[in-house]
Amino acid sequence: MAIWKNLFGTAPTNAKAPDISLPAACDEFLVIGSPDLSEDFCSDLIISSKSLNDWIKPNLINNTALSGEFIERARRVSGWLETHTNNGKASTIPADAYAIVANSASGLVNTTGTSVRCRDCGVIYDRVEVEESSTDLEIYLEISTRWTCPRGHLLYSEDGGIHMSIAD
Ligand SMILES: [Zn+2]
Repeated sequence: MAIWKNLFGTAPTNAKAPDISLPAACDEFLVIGSPDLSEDFCSDLIISSKSLNDWIKPNLINNTALSGEFIERARRVSGWLETHTNNGKASTIPADAYAIVANSASGLVNTTGTSVRCRDCGVIYDRVEVEESSTDLEIYLEISTRWTCPRGHLLYSEDGGIHMSIAD
């Protein structure tokens, strides 16, 4: 093993590249959140393909807390995002690419290249109001996230929580 590492830089891996399906080319913009993709949304979260790729590299590909297969999938999506052309078009993110950003809406909203279309106003906003509240239920911390547009319409709502373990 040590010799292999010295010769080739990295140890051989048995991890098989995930079989993922992506269109031949990527549009300039992608819808990565909508009621069709997740029931948390009543708006459309839109991001430029370039901005999404800039986010994937540090947050997913270089994230050692993620599994090798997930990182390999993120790397393949990143390669696909590089195929984007400045065609001005927006399309819904393909399912296999959505799988790696499905839980990242809160980390992406209000970042560069991201916007949210309020379906009530029909307006696309670069920044929206994000409100997070938590309720401490002793062994369970309930966390609620709400996004609203400047006119007060609900854009996104998510209820989650963290189980607290009490160490003696
Ligand atoms: Zn609105």
